[in-house]
Amino acid sequence: MTGVERVVVVGAGVAGLTTAVVLAEAGLAVHVVAEEIPGVTSLAAGAMWGPYLVEPKAKVDEWSRRSLEVFRELAGDPATGVRLTSGIEASRTAEVPPEWATTLPDHRPCEAAELPPGFTAGYRFTVPLIDMPVYLGYLLRRLEATGGTVEERRVPSLAQAGPADVLVNCSGMGARELAPDGDLRPIRGQHVVVENPGLTEFFSEDTGTSPELLCFYPHGKTVVLGGTAVEGEVGLARDDEAAAGILARCAEVEPRLAGARVLDHRVGARPTRAAVRVEEERATVGARVVHNYGHGGAGVTLSWGCAGEALRLAL
Ligand SMILES: Cc1cc2nc3c(=O)[nH]c(=O)nc-3n(C[C@H](O)[C@H](O)[C@H](O)COP(=O)(O)OP(=O)(O)OC[C@H]3O[C@@H](n4cnc5c(N)ncnc54)[C@H](O)[C@@H]3O)c2cc1C
Repeated sequence: MTGVERVVVVGAGVAGLTTAVVLAEAGLAVHVVAEEIPGVTSLAAGAMWGPYLVEPKAKVDEWSRRSLEVFRELAGDPATGVRLTSGIEASRTAEVPPEWATTLPDHRPCEAAELPPGFTAGYRFTVPLIDMPVYLGYLLRRLEATGGTVEERRVPSLAQAGPADVLVNCSGMGARELAPDGDLRPIRGQHVVVENPGLTEFFSEDTGTSPELLCFYPHGKTVVLGGTAVEGEVGLARDDEAAAGILARCAEVEPRLAGARVLDHRVGARPTRAAVRVEEERATVGARVVHNYGHGGAGVTLSWGCAGEALRLAL
């Protein structure tokens, strides 16, 4: 026996909900407290499995691999919103594929004829794509089916999230105030969602550190088009100029996207720091605290791996 019975998870983004599911399925009484259910940044993700804007590498590799195993299983059930999808990551300059992609079993270099005009290299592979509104709904249902409970409430401090034996801090950018953690910084990202004109494959450009990204992820009837990665305090209001740029970049690579009906705009702030923080902090708030935040541009990719580590720390 560990003496841990009741756990409160602060945050209902992909980090909080996945952690809550893992803890509840391990037999703990789990209560989630969050200002937004589900978390806005998690809703805005594309989402593709693949580490981006996140450190430290060794841990990221381990956590990503664990999540990949789980997403492959979830892809068998359409209700999860997870699909194994083939597609291309291409570059106008680099010849080298992203290292993580080379670990995928069906990874191969593209033939020149497979690449859009202007691209010099590309790699084809199959990865999980995650339709975030559907997936976050699935996680909520799975949590509630195990007896977990959810409460919509902003907490001014971790101490006011309890009572609990363990508090798990999955508050994303909110950890700046709650931890408190001055190292966390937002990297704003925007997506445009359109009606799917018949795409079945994803595309992503290796744009390096550019704030203008180019990717599209088909999710059945919709396609999520990206994107942007803008450092700093720029708010979460929709930027029409950024949306127009996203649509133009994507349509240049995939002409079927030109004129596709726009259904939605999604904006989030990637919670970024020098290293993802999954660790226990000795109690200053009357309960043990386990932090799980700072996942940058890879919170979906890391979610199951980090949740497993949070469970080990909680116990
Ligand atoms: C445009 C875009 C594209 C992305 N694409 C991908 C991708 O393809 N693959 C990938 O792996 N990742 C991607 N990401 C990154 C991913 O979305 C994030 O890393 C992830 O969503 C972070 O999840 P989170 O649960 O930590 O944060 P959030 O989703 O922000 O959730 C935080 C939760 O904490 C709650 N909270 C905060 N403060 C308080 C408080 N004081 N009191 C109560 N509740 C509080 C919030 O209400 C919310 O419920 C993308 C991000 C963006 C913006």
